Amino acid sequence: MFGSRRDGETVTCIACGEECPRADAREYDKHGDRWDRQDKSFEYLCKTCFTETCRQPRDGLEATLAAAEAGETDRETFLRQYHELADDQT
Ligand SMILES: [Zn+2]
Repeated sequence: MFGSRRDGETVTCIACGEECPRADAREYDKHGDRWDRQDKSFEYLCKTCFTETCRQPRDGLEATLAAAEAGETDRETFLRQYHELADDQT
């Protein structure tokens, strides 16, 4: 064993902004098209947020993410918009 390749690779959860190991994250593609991976950066959800979003109506999450411009704005702006939108819905 010469070390595991996944060691040290982390991704940032789009919902809470926490970094978590890539291996533990859930890939989330707001476009719902997992086959077209070119020129796309996938978003990731940590386990906690993934579980939480699964309890929400999927349509609501999609709309919220789209409205918050997921992947189309810088993370800070996105997270702020996301949380504002999420707060509105609850
Ligand atoms: Zn998270």
